[in-house]
Order: sequence, then C-alpha cells, then structure tokens
Amino acid sequence: MNPAELAISEVSKKLQSREIGVTELLDSVFSQLEKYEPELDAFATILKEKAYKKAEECQHGIYKKRNATPLTGIPISVKDIFCTEGVLTSCASKILENFVPPYDATVVAKLKDSGAIIIGKTNMDEFAMGSSTENSAFKKTKNPWDISRVPGGSSGGSAASVAACMGFASVGTDTGGSIRQPASFCGVAGLKPTYGRVSRYGMIAFASSLDQGGPFARTVEDCAIMLSAIAGHDPMDSTSADIAVPDYLKEITHDIKGLKLGIPKEYFIKGIDNEVELSVRKAIKELEKLGAEVTEITLPSTEYGLAVYYILAPSEASSNLARYDGVKYGYRSPSLNNLMDMYCRTRAEGFGPEVKRRIMLGTYALSAGYYDAYYKKAQQVRRLVRDDFENAFKKVDAILTPTSPTPAFRFGEKTQDPLTMYLSDVFTIPLNLAGLPGISVPCGFSTGGLPIGLQIIGKPFDEGM
Ligand code: GLN
Repeated sequence: MNPAELAISEVSKKLQSREIGVTELLDSVFSQLEKYEPELDAFATILKEKAYKKAEECQHGIYKKRNATPLTGIPISVKDIFCTEGVLTSCASKILENFVPPYDATVVAKLKDSGAIIIGKTNMDEFAMGSSTENSAFKKTKNPWDISRVPGGSSGGSAASVAACMGFASVGTDTGGSIRQPASFCGVAGLKPTYGRVSRYGMIAFASSLDQGGPFARTVEDCAIMLSAIAGHDPMDSTSADIAVPDYLKEITHDIKGLKLGIPKEYFIKGIDNEVELSVRKAIKELEKLGAEVTEITLPSTEYGLAVYYILAPSEASSNLARYDGVKYGYRSPSLNNLMDMYCRTRAEGFGPEVKRRIMLGTYALSAGYYDAYYKKAQQVRRLVRDDFENAFKKVDAILTPTSPTPAFRFGEKTQDPLTMYLSDVFTIPLNLAGLPGISVPCGFSTGGLPIGLQIIGKPFDEGM
C-alpha cells in the first residue's frame, strides 16, 4: 500500500514505531504531487525544501522519543488565506501577489508545534469568495474525480489535495460553506467548527462574524486529530472562545444508539438533485438501522438564509477589504498621478470581478440611506435563523441535511450568473449565520461517479458528538 494513501491515525503509529521514516513518508507524498499536481493545480505554493528540513527535525524527535503528537511527521497543507511567516500568502488575489507575512497565523503556529509538516499552501477563490475556485486570480483547481469539473470552493485546493492524497489533511476556512461544500464535491470529510472554536488570528478576514477555520481529511477520525491540534482559546483573537477543548478522539467513539437526529423538511426542496436526495435519505436510513431515532423537524427561516448572508457577508467584506489600498503592503499600481488616483487604480487593478461585486454590494447595503432596510434587517433575520436551530436542538442532538444541492458542476457552468453560484451554499450558509458546527462526510456517489456529501449539524461546541 502507498503510505500516502493511509489515514493519519494509521500512519502516525507506523512513524512512532519506526516502521516507516518521516522522510520516506514525505517522499511518498511528493511523488503523489509530482504525479497529480500538474493536472489538478491544487497548490498555490509548494514548500518542498522547508518540508524536508522539518521532516529531519521530526525524525530526530521520534528517535529521542520527544513530545510526539498524532501529527508528528505528518505532511499536511493549509489554505493560502492563513498567514505563514516568510512564505507568500496571496489569498489568490493579485492585490496580495507579493505579500510575505512577518508572522504565522495561530492555526499555522499550532500545527507547526504539533509536529505537522506543512508541504504547501492551497489554491482558493480570491479572498474566499466563491464556490468553485474559479475566482482564483492565478489558476483553477480541478476536481480529482473528474477534471472537467470544479472541486468546489472556496477551499477547493485543500479538498482536491486531500482527495488526491497530496498530504493527509488540510486546513481551510468556511464563511458560508467553503469547507463543507468542497469536501462534499471531492469526497472527503470537512468540518466547520463552532464560531470561536478555532482562532482567526492571522487568517485573512472576509466576513469576520462568519469566518471559521477547520480541517479537511480522508476520515472523520483524522478530522478529530486535526481539530484537537488547532482548536482552543487564543488571546490574540477576541472572538475566540475560552472554553476547554475536549478529547475529540475519545468523543467520536461514542455509540449512536438512541441519538436523536432531526431532518429539516426545508432542506429537501425542489431544485435539489435527485441522486443527492436519494443518497442522503439512504444514509439517514442507515443511521436509523444503527439505532438512531430520526424525526422530521422544521427550520422555517431557512429560506431567508441566502439573502441574509449576501447582505451581511459583503457588508463585512467591504469593510475588511478597505485595508488593501496600496499603502502598507501588497500591490500598488505603477501608474499614478496623486494619492486618490493611487487608491483607485490599485484597487481597480488588484481586485478581481467577484471581489469588486461584493465590495459594491456591501458598501451599498451599509450606506446611510439603505442601512436600515438592508444591513439592519438582515441582522434581525439572522437572529431568527439562529432561533430556529435553538428550538430544534431542544428536541434533537444533531441535524442531517445534504451538504450541497448538486454534485460537482462543470467549469464555466455557473460563472455567467452569480446567483446560481450562490445557490450552491444554500444548505451550508445557515450554520455560519447561527455560528454552529457542521461536518460534511461522504455518503455515496452519483451514477456519473461523483461524490455526494451528507451534512451533520451539531449544537454549539459539540463537534465531538
Ligand atoms: N460560496 C460562499 C461565498 O462565496 C461561501 C464562501 C466561504 O465560505 N468562504 O461567499
């Protein structure tokens, strides 16, 4: 068996018992990369030299039996939205094409401390705005199951890399579905933790009240290993929660017998792909056979989720992205006459069309004349979406839905009409609005051989369940 295809839980035992060496393991991952990366374009930056250097350190630590964690010596990647000290962090935008951060994001620092080997930064939609990775300013990542299709987005590079065994796991971000939707399109597990579970320090901001980092892996157990490494309170992020991190590896061994699972009727609507509905319903039946109690529930405000998100997320983005003005860092237009001209040209040349669309939408929604009608109203409806879940969780332990209404779509299929693109997150967005954790796990394939994802929604800080 190719060691690059194993799970972290398996390979880490082999590393600790020295059945396999760290460098040898890294070799097997890089040979996957040589084979598949030219076709898939999952990475924005590959860190081969740094990775081999770290592998040596890890091997030394294993010899000395020092501080081993389940991630010691494990090759992984991070989305190009996380700041990495001394390593280009472009967020897939021209405006940051030369940006080399002077510090590590907390997530990156924690992964390094746990002994993980970061092999590269993964491609994404510019500033995490998109559902297909087609909005990257640099390249389009392909879906490993069918390269004529998108890997999903915005963390498409992370999902594709893990699916193609180019690394054992990856960390992405999810503002409206950017971990779960690509995980479902690429047939891997992807977890969006509770808002506040994982530090946002050093994670380039899109919509600060919605953004959350989380893992991709090929097994749920590996997601638990990754979450254990990156979760926890961080004084550098005022929104990070000061709540103890449970032992996720222990929690995932609990029986599902007697678990109460809710199926929201609003998530099985017209427009959802037939095969997606069938696979998800089959998975639900399977859980029932294993002893879970399944009940229908209602989340009546679901239909407003998308509209609320596309007021709030662009509003926050328009404010967060004001900092890219060519003054302190990033791209600056070479042709300029005066200061105002410099701002205008820099932003006109540096941002791509989707980012500009969001900035305009957000600026409009926040403008004095429209604030009450849009931003304020959206905040009020956001509360209703959260209340829906709070009510439902009085009766059930978890909620099951499809992750996305369709399997992976073709390149160009949705680029002409932004609204149809936005719809691919209709089932994932409500969780971000409510701050809840959700995981996408594979639950079958379409007749065309494309993976389908099941979304499991939990109570706040109940990722372990
Ligand atoms: N696809 C959604 C958007 O474009 C969500 C993106 C995300 O979660 N970062 O905003």
